[in-house]
Amino acid sequence: MQIKFYGTRGSIPTPGADTQRYGGNTPCVLVTSQSGQQLILDSGTGIRLLGQELMAGTSELVLLLSHNHWDHIQGFPFFAPAYQAGRQIRIIPGKTLHGENDAILKQMSGEFFPVAPQQLASTIRITPMTEEQWQLGDFYIQRCPLNHPGSGSAYHISADGHTLAYVTDNELFPPEQTMTSRAQWLEFVTGVDLLIHDGQYLEADMPYKLGWGHSLVSQAVVLAKEAKVKRLVIFSHDPARTDRQLDQLAQQFSGQQPEVLMAQEGMELWC
Ligand SMILES: [Zn+2]
Repeated sequence: MQIKFYGTRGSIPTPGADTQRYGGNTPCVLVTSQSGQQLILDSGTGIRLLGQELMAGTSELVLLLSHNHWDHIQGFPFFAPAYQAGRQIRIIPGKTLHGENDAILKQMSGEFFPVAPQQLASTIRITPMTEEQWQLGDFYIQRCPLNHPGSGSAYHISADGHTLAYVTDNELFPPEQTMTSRAQWLEFVTGVDLLIHDGQYLEADMPYKLGWGHSLVSQAVVLAKEAKVKRLVIFSHDPARTDRQLDQLAQQFSGQQPEVLMAQEGMELWC
């Protein structure tokens, strides 16, 4: 699988001189199998650039959403293939407690965005999954509930004999409601080739941000070590985290097993 990052920032886009290198767009990741099948993870503002690249194609596009918080859906109204006549777009929503499976289209009401979903030239299907695991072309997908306000879904994706886990907006040690225990997370991500995990906070953010639904970088690193994953990508950077601070974090965890990378817009990985 090839994994390319189009948006790595949590909560809100952060353009500016201090975030240029790691990027200011909110979450969007493209996964491509060896045969060329594609899966888009989340629809933050990073999906705008991806959409421009996808305009050359005609195949059905599949979006797999973690949850419907704004930073994970807000790029969709600017996703060019949605305006492409004849294009098929399938959206698989995350399993949230509110269960508003069409939230990504609801944001295109006249009050928040001028173009209504029924005016889009593409054909959009929203297909909530009832099973916890399913085959989607080359991809075998399993999901797991997020520890996050309103919950959502993490995904374990297998293709071509390799595995990826996408776990963002997840608090490994939530103070109150636990949807998935630490032991269950360990089981879910054990042995994956690539773990993309939320690392929005640092120790200095606590206890103020306890219960906000994100993890410390150090907690994600410990999980990755215990789970013997091959590589960890820290994702959903805090809006206040500068390129310099992310460089320092990369430095702090360099030379360790597993390898720890800070997600960066434009970064391409293979597993
Ligand atoms: Zn969220």
